[in-house]
This record gives sequence, C-alpha cells and structure tokens, in this order.
Amino acid sequence: SIADLLAQPFGTLPDLIRRHAAEQPDKIAVTDGDDELTYRELDSIMDRAVAVLQRDGTAQGQAVAMVSYPSTAQAAVFLAAVRAGSIAAPIQPSATPEQIAGMVADSGANLVFLDAANAKALAAQRISATVVMLEDLEPWLAPEGTRPQPVEIKPDDGFNIIYSSGTTGIPKGIVQSHTMRWQHLSRNSAAGFDTAVTLLATPLYSNTTLVSFLPTLAWGGTAVLMKKFDARRYLELAQQYRATHTMLVPVQYQRIMALPDFDRFDLSSFRFKTCTSAPFKARLKRDVVNRWPGKLVEYYGMTEGGASFILVADENPDKLHTVGRLSPGHQAILLDEEGKEVAPGEMGEIVGRSPAMMNGYHKREGATRESEYYDADGNRWIRHGDVGRFDEDGFLILMDRKKDMIISGGFNIYPSDLEAVLAEHPAVADCTVVGVPSDEWGETPVGFYVPRAGATETAEDVRTATNAKLGKTQRLSALYVTDELPRSAIGKVLKRELRDQLAAGNF
Ligand code: ATP
Ligand code: MG
Repeated sequence: SIADLLAQPFGTLPDLIRRHAAEQPDKIAVTDGDDELTYRELDSIMDRAVAVLQRDGTAQGQAVAMVSYPSTAQAAVFLAAVRAGSIAAPIQPSATPEQIAGMVADSGANLVFLDAANAKALAAQRISATVVMLEDLEPWLAPEGTRPQPVEIKPDDGFNIIYSSGTTGIPKGIVQSHTMRWQHLSRNSAAGFDTAVTLLATPLYSNTTLVSFLPTLAWGGTAVLMKKFDARRYLELAQQYRATHTMLVPVQYQRIMALPDFDRFDLSSFRFKTCTSAPFKARLKRDVVNRWPGKLVEYYGMTEGGASFILVADENPDKLHTVGRLSPGHQAILLDEEGKEVAPGEMGEIVGRSPAMMNGYHKREGATRESEYYDADGNRWIRHGDVGRFDEDGFLILMDRKKDMIISGGFNIYPSDLEAVLAEHPAVADCTVVGVPSDEWGETPVGFYVPRAGATETAEDVRTATNAKLGKTQRLSALYVTDELPRSAIGKVLKRELRDQLAAGNF
C-alpha cells in the first residue's frame, strides 16, 4: 500500500504517481477549473516530457524553470522535471520581471515554461533559456506512448528549488532534496490524503502550497488548483468539488470568513484544513474552529527546514496563541544574542534540527554559513531568524522575525506584542507595527491599520487607546491609516515596504 511505501526511509513521488496511474487510472489527479488530468494522463505527460528533457540533454541535477499561475500544465511540468532527476524551479510570477529573470538565471535552467499571462511581462527580459508556452505544451511533448530512459535518483538529489518568499529581502534559492520531500509526504499518514479533494488557493512556487499539494498526489487524492485567489470563488469551488482538505494562509481565512453569506455555504465535506506562513491570530483561529467544519492544523516552519511545529487547533483551545509543539523527530533550542541557550520560559532565536533540512542556499555560501549553527557535538542546526519562547507545556509562542525586532532606548520591543493590542481595538480590521529610525531612541515603533467599515474613531483616538494598554517603552510614536497592508502573494505582510514608503514620505 501507499502507506507502506511511504513508511520506507526513501522513495520518490513520481514513482507513487506511476503506481496510482496503474491502480486508479481514471481518477482526477489535478484540476485547475478549466482543465483536468487523470492519474493516467498525468503519468503519461510526465513520461513524454521526461523523454524530451533527455533528448535535449537537460542534465540530471539541472533546474527546469516555470513562471506561471497555478495550472494543470504547470503541475505536470513540475512533476516531470522531478521524474527526470532535474530540479523543478517554480518562480514567483508576482516578482518584478527583472527579479524573475534573475531567479531563472540563478537557478541555472536552460528551459523555462511560461504561461501566457506572464509571457508579456517577461518579453523585454533577456532570458538565456529555451522558452516553452504552457498553454501549448502538447506539440512540445514526445509522441504519446514514448517511454523515457530509466533515471536513478538518490536521496540527496535535488527535488525542487524554492526561492524563499523574499519577505525580508532578496529571495534566496533553497534546494529541497528528495529526502526532505519524502519526509513531508510520509508525515501525513494520519491526514487522510488518499481520499482527499484538496482545494488550494496559493501558488505552486511556495512551499506553503507544496506541503499540501505534493502529499495529495503522493497518497492518490485529487488536487484542485485556483489560478488566482478569490474568496467567493473559493467557496463555490469548495461546494462544487466537495473539498475535504485545504491549505490557506491567514489572510485568506480572514477574507473568506468575512463574506456576509459565509455561513450559508455548505462546507460539511471539509475534514482537514491547514495554515502556515504568517501570524495567525488566536481570534481568527477560534473563528475558523467554530464556523468551518473539519480539523484545523497550523504549521510553523521554513522552506529551509530546521524544526517544524504543529498546532491542532481544535484539540488545544487554550493554546491558540501558540504555533504548537515540535513535530515528531524535530528538535529546537532557543539562543540568546551571545549564542547561549536561554533559561526555560525565556525568549530567544529559534534554532532547529530535523531529518528535513536544506543543505544550504543555492550559490550563497555566506548566507548558508550565517544560517547554520553547530553544537558541541558538531551537529548542524538551522537558525530560523524568528524569536519565540516555550510555555510550560512545550508550546511555542512565536514572537517576531529577528530582523523586525525594535530596539528602542536599549529595550527590546516585539512588534507582535503591540500588534496584538492594536488588533483588539474595535476600529481596527488589520494592522502591523514596524520600527523606524529615531534620533532620540535609536528606533521607535509606528503602527499602520486598516479601519473596520463604519468605524468613526480617528487614528489618534486609536493610538491613545492602544498606548494606554502598553508599557511606557512600547508606546506607538505614530499610527497611520491605510486602505490595505502590502502583502506578498502568499499573504505575508511586507514590513520592509511599509518602512520604505514611510521613509519616502508616503504617509
Ligand atoms: P525570506 O526568508 O526570503 O525573508 P520567508 O522567511 O517569508 O522569506 P518562508 O520560508 O516562506 O520565507 O517562510 C518562513 C517564515 O514564515 C518563518 O521563518 C516565519 O517567520 C513565518 N511563518 C511560517 N509559519 C508561520 C506561522 N504558523 N505563524 C507565523 N509565522 C510563520
Ligand atoms: Mg525566511
């Protein structure tokens, strides 16, 4: 069975797909609303694509890039690259054309798949790779029935390269190995992916999506991809396909549940909902648990690996302010500024170790070295760049990214503390806090918020009320109203963009 195969120390996802193609050929593997692929069709396209990669001399270990919104064609090409022993390199279409061209070049791909929506934007870029349009894949593929040469894949071989979200700077390439992926797949044995209809509304270039998409295919379920997120369309698709599984980022949960007729949709088919990638407010988690059927599981981790944490929200109603406990087989310690382990209950940088870790950033030795920590026994750990503390039951209370911490007058200020207070204000629909340079304090916290519809308070009213609940050193020196917070395509607030806008005098 698939469970037995996944319990093995190592295997490959394309082999599992081949097996599903034999055992359940007519089951839908992937659909994007327009187009659908059965397991037999998916397996056959993968083989035909692998044959072309081999004919054209795409080496094992070489990246195959794709710049696309989610589609069945993108999914098939991604998986074909993996079967060929090449490295799937899905690139963020939301990046600027210059950045996209930069990532394609950085990946070393000599072949790039584009969808029509992205081809235009990239037309002016010099990309020194062969371009194939995803909408016109058929003529590129080898003839039906073509069998590629056998490929030998080793556990440490690259599966995909993911460019980190770039939330805090330039995206860095992270090669995830077949072993790392196998770990992700096998840990889902209790999640019922074999009978899943997994509805996904985030792009395939993000690990956030892949940790739900790939297990769906490994276990033989059906993945439903949304080309672009839209709250109402999401609910319609959920009803139409009787979705059982989903992965959404917090802002998507929020937007879907904010629809006035949310409670009228029949969501009784849901069994397993997951969330990761950005702070998920306790109030919103509670709302999801109460109003949306199925289990809610939050993950905290990073594309690089390190340690991951799991919170089963339904079973831990009093721990919703945490990101849960360590995944089995994962370890984490918290380090202070001097690199020493903090005392129990104290705050420190999260440093993790697990069987699923990147070897390093692609072509970035300096960044790789900075990300590593070696213990006294010489074991390699990965620094998460996030600060948190453990509660007395071993649940992790995640604070902020180290880069976002504010040092004001010698005090450490955690923006998340301030955001929690600000978010409680009835006039506030969405908010964030960043540090800005201050002559007097070195740095000082300023807030931004999106007002709730119909709120009559001024920003000054909200700031006064918020500051009254904060410690003297934490007080917001300014609070700005904005229509929307800048977010990445996977829903992360881009604090650096707010700092830049503020510095440019846009508020
Ligand atoms: P970059 O490293 O390029 O700045 P990124 O860190 O956003 O981008 P990812 O690997 O996609 O790239 O995201 C991992 C980060 O996302 C974590 O380090 C953490 O800051 C945040 N994160 C992940 N899960 C959660 C969660 N459940 N709650 C809050 N934050 C989370
Ligand atoms: Mg990161």
